[in-house]
Amino acid sequence: MALLDIGFDADDTLWHCEHLFAETQEELQHILEKHAPRDEVEAKLHATELENVRLFGYGIKGFTLSMVETAVQISQGRITGDDVHRILMMGKRMLEAPVDLMPGIRGVLEALRGSYRLLLITKGDVLDQTNKIDKSGLGDFFDAIEVVQNKDVAAYRDVFDRNGVRVRNFLMVGNSIPSDVLPVLELGGWGVHIPYEHVAIHERHDADPAHDRFRRLLHIGELPALVEDIRTAG
Ligand SMILES: [Mg+2]
Repeated sequence: MALLDIGFDADDTLWHCEHLFAETQEELQHILEKHAPRDEVEAKLHATELENVRLFGYGIKGFTLSMVETAVQISQGRITGDDVHRILMMGKRMLEAPVDLMPGIRGVLEALRGSYRLLLITKGDVLDQTNKIDKSGLGDFFDAIEVVQNKDVAAYRDVFDRNGVRVRNFLMVGNSIPSDVLPVLELGGWGVHIPYEHVAIHERHDADPAHDRFRRLLHIGELPALVEDIRTAG
C-alpha cells in the first residue's frame, strides 16, 4: 500500500501538556478549600469546562475563564480579588510554560520525513498552539500545520481537502480516541492511539474501537516500524 501521509496530534503526543491542567486544577482546589471540598471543586470545574467549550473552544484561555467561573460559583461570590488574580496568573503561567518534548520525538520525525508527508493537526487556541509549535522547534518537520476548532469528521475532511490527502492512505497518531482516532477511522484512514498518563475530561472514552485500521502503541518510538509494517503489508 502507498501510505503517503501521516498526521500527528500535538498536545500529549509531540509534547507533554495535560499535566499542566492537572497541576493547575490542584492549585485551584487548594485555593477553594475554604469554600468547598476538593472533589466538589473538581466536579464543578469539569462541568463548567464542558458547558463552556462551545463558547470558548479548547485551550488554556477558556480553561482559565472556567476556573474563575467555578471559583465565583463555589464560593457563592465570596472569592476575593486577590484569589481571582492568582487564578488568572495560573492561566498565564500555563501559557508561558516551556514545551517539554516527548522522549525520542525528534528521531521519529527525522526517520519519517522525506519518505512520508507529515501533517501536524491540533485543536485549540490558534495563538497558543502556534506559540507551542515555535517553542518546540519541530515546526520544520511538517509539510502542513493545521490548527482546528474541533477534531471531528467535518474538520478532518476539510484538512484532507486543503492538503490533497487521500484518506485511505492516511494515518493519524495521537493520544485521544475521540479526537485522533474515531473520526479518521470513520473516514477510512488508519487511527493509531498512544495513551498518555493524564486524559482531559473531554477526551475520555470507554471502549476501544473495533476496527481493522485501529492500532495502539505504547510509545511514539514504535511508530516508524508500524508505518513500515502497514506499508509493506498492503
Ligand atoms: Mg492530544
